[in-house]
Amino acid sequence: MNPVRPRTAVLGSGEVAWDAAVVPADDAALRGEGCFETILVHGGRPAHVVRLEEHLDRFERSAAALDTFFDRAGWTALSAALVDEVPDGVEAVLRLSLSRSGSGVATVRPLPASVLAGRDGVHVATLARGTVAVADAPWLLGAVKTSSYAVNGAALREAARRGADDALFVDAQGFLLEGPTANLLWHLDGAWHTPVPAGRGVLPGTTLAAVGPAREVLRRPEELLRADGVWLLSSLRGAAAVLSVDGTPLPGDADLTRRLQQVALERPPLH
Ligand code: PLP
Repeated sequence: MNPVRPRTAVLGSGEVAWDAAVVPADDAALRGEGCFETILVHGGRPAHVVRLEEHLDRFERSAAALDTFFDRAGWTALSAALVDEVPDGVEAVLRLSLSRSGSGVATVRPLPASVLAGRDGVHVATLARGTVAVADAPWLLGAVKTSSYAVNGAALREAARRGADDALFVDAQGFLLEGPTANLLWHLDGAWHTPVPAGRGVLPGTTLAAVGPAREVLRRPEELLRADGVWLLSSLRGAAAVLSVDGTPLPGDADLTRRLQQVALERPPLH
């Protein structure tokens, strides 16, 4: 049995039944016009919501890009109330979703088994996103964590068809971008590297910022074969070592992975 009790709360009105059909037909649900955050929680008294302020900062920027009001104090209170029962030593997922019509929903759920599996490393397939860099085009919502994840989901299913665990997008010129739910980081020639984010539809990740800084570079996937280590960084999996790209094994560094994972997941000390 998973000891995390699923809970759901609505911004402005409080907790509802965990499986309540909240806001069934709004801008986010019908057209993807919304934004969200997915956040790791370490249970305890008090629970530790990993990098909550950084997630709220990005959530607030996303809401601003969607021209919708952001109630930071309300989200802070809702988050604290929802995670207070997560047992000590147990991880959970806090998800905050805001639609452009203004409805906000927060949920806490058990950590999916696939997340735990991913922490042991992932095999990735490169997939074309076909995009080009566009400067000064905020309406493309490139740095916004919108609810429009249909393409990201389709990419993950295509990666699975190719026998991989995850995808790695490349742009129209074949330069590395990010994964459908994670940023890319690699260590080469004594330095940390990540793909240039600006104007390229790469999300500014809270995990990448926490383990950073890294040099922002334009590189093709072949570059990764020369690295000492390659990782996909995201809030729930932390630093997932990339074990192979399109079937070609990558060198790994277990010690670097351990150190990155410690920072990425903000694991509480063992006692
Ligand atoms: N890039 C995309 C497209 C994502 O969906 C995510 C995570 O949800 C990330 C990067 C990593 O962001 P974070 O480290 O804040 O979880």
